[in-house]
Amino acid sequence: MGRTKKVGSTGRYGVRYGLKLRKKTLEVESKQKKKHICPFCKKTGVKRIAAGIWECNKCMNKFTGKAYFPGD
Ligand SMILES: [Zn+2]
Repeated sequence: MGRTKKVGSTGRYGVRYGLKLRKKTLEVESKQKKKHICPFCKKTGVKRIAAGIWECNKCMNKFTGKAYFPGD
C-alpha cells in the first residue's frame, strides 16, 4: 500500500510537469501554424521553411528571423 502511495505522488508531479510542457508546446505550435505578415508585401503568406528562415508565398521573398516567429 505504502509503495503505491509513493508512486502516486511522483506520478502526480510528473503529470503537472508534463501538462506545463505540453501547454508550452501547443502554444508554439499554434503560433507556427498561424500565417505571418510578410515585411515586404504586407500579406499573410509567410511560412517557416527552416529554423530562422522564412518565405513569403505571395512575393516569394526569403528572409531570416527568429526560429519560430519571423519578427517581434
Ligand atoms: Zn511577401
